Amino acid sequence: MSDAIIRTRFAPSPTGFMHVGGIRTALFAWLVARQAGGAFILRLEDTDQKREVAGSAEHILMALGALGITHDEGPDVGGPYAPYLQSERLGIYTAWAQKLIDSGRAYADPYTAAELDAIRESARADKKAFLYRDYRPKNPPTWDGSMPLRFKSEPKTYHWHDEVLGDLSTGPDVIDDIILIKSDGFPTYNFAHIVDDAEMNISHIIRGQEFIASQPNYLNIYEALGLDVPIFATMPHIMAVSGNKKLGKRDGAKDVLDYLKDGYLPETMVNFIASLGWNDGTEQEIFTISELIKKFSLDRVQKSGARFDDKRLEWMNGQHIRLLPLDDLYERVTDFWPASAVNVSEDLKKQVLALVQDRLKTLKDLAVLTGYFFADPPADWSLIENNKQLAKLSKDELNQLLQAAYDAFGASDFTPEAIQETLNQLLITTSQKPAILFSLIRTVVSWAPFSPALNHTLSVLGKEVSLSRLDAALKRV
Ligand code: GLU
Repeated sequence: MSDAIIRTRFAPSPTGFMHVGGIRTALFAWLVARQAGGAFILRLEDTDQKREVAGSAEHILMALGALGITHDEGPDVGGPYAPYLQSERLGIYTAWAQKLIDSGRAYADPYTAAELDAIRESARADKKAFLYRDYRPKNPPTWDGSMPLRFKSEPKTYHWHDEVLGDLSTGPDVIDDIILIKSDGFPTYNFAHIVDDAEMNISHIIRGQEFIASQPNYLNIYEALGLDVPIFATMPHIMAVSGNKKLGKRDGAKDVLDYLKDGYLPETMVNFIASLGWNDGTEQEIFTISELIKKFSLDRVQKSGARFDDKRLEWMNGQHIRLLPLDDLYERVTDFWPASAVNVSEDLKKQVLALVQDRLKTLKDLAVLTGYFFADPPADWSLIENNKQLAKLSKDELNQLLQAAYDAFGASDFTPEAIQETLNQLLITTSQKPAILFSLIRTVVSWAPFSPALNHTLSVLGKEVSLSRLDAALKRV
């Protein structure tokens, strides 16, 4: 390496949404940089104009920003090696290509598409693997930019180390004359990334599996350019939770920004994505971002595919929600309250939030779990009819129990402790089991299948509301 400083990069092509695989590559590169006090660089690889999707560059920036994966250099913030957009660096690629032409290691590819097809066809007829280098033109024309520029390879055996995959080697057969610059004047990924990683002093190339087959060709180019090779780390695939296939959109892997909209915390997404193929060697599953920065290491990234389990993601989100101080959580749930909370005081909302914090799996659950605190919920008698214990109660029994509760609460203070005392007394006076008495009260004040501890729920609802809901139920029995 030309530079002892750790410099990693994320080099996405602006070709679509920001899926978890892409974010994971970015995250691992970011963790390596942050851990070492190095730099994390964002470079947009927009050299395949046909595949470009409008708006995706902004989307990538938004997704990284939302997860706190901050870059030190990039198209939006500049840096010492600007520009960071490949389409603005065409002159740099031509200059490096010229070095290869000058040293006899690149040549103009004169074949038309039809000629190339014919060559391929004859190789197939001879039952030979097609290698372009077997058909190099004898006297290639001078390269004027109108034809592809090809690398003149020197096939050989390579041994190299990958931080994740270990020691690898390949024979000369996999090396060929790949295209460096296309006839549209844009470099290929194969060439541009080598130039940019060298120019930008990148210390680690952390990327997906799809490039591993081309690695020997890259090594050949590094050599022809007299470049030191950086450290390589190839990420394992992300697999669907069951079966043997790679994760697709259908398996629940959405754009990372959609997860945030659905009430997943950024710290959950970072923790979860980091765990796709990495662990610290212990049983620990919940990591804060600063713990990840401290503990992450490429040599604990597994080789085999990591499984994307959305149940685990949901569980993890619940864990991270619990870890948040109430005021912090309150700031994050602004968009997730039920409509009925619109004119409710901050104080009441915080009390409610404190009650349900442990039950939230996503922030979206908030609306479902708390609506009855802010407005009278519609009575849903099926909750009583479908409850094994409550269904057994006759009308008279229902009446008696509700009346007893109404009277007792009418005379009770409404602190959680006083309410608990009243509830305990009620068990004695009605000779009922908690599973019946408490369920009944819980149901008619909330009309929800779950609620937090009954004394706390009633206390937050307050005396007036609690009594009026008991009364409404009494009238309907
Ligand atoms: N532009 C490539 C991609 O989006 C980047 C691969 C790399 O990290 O070098 O897949």
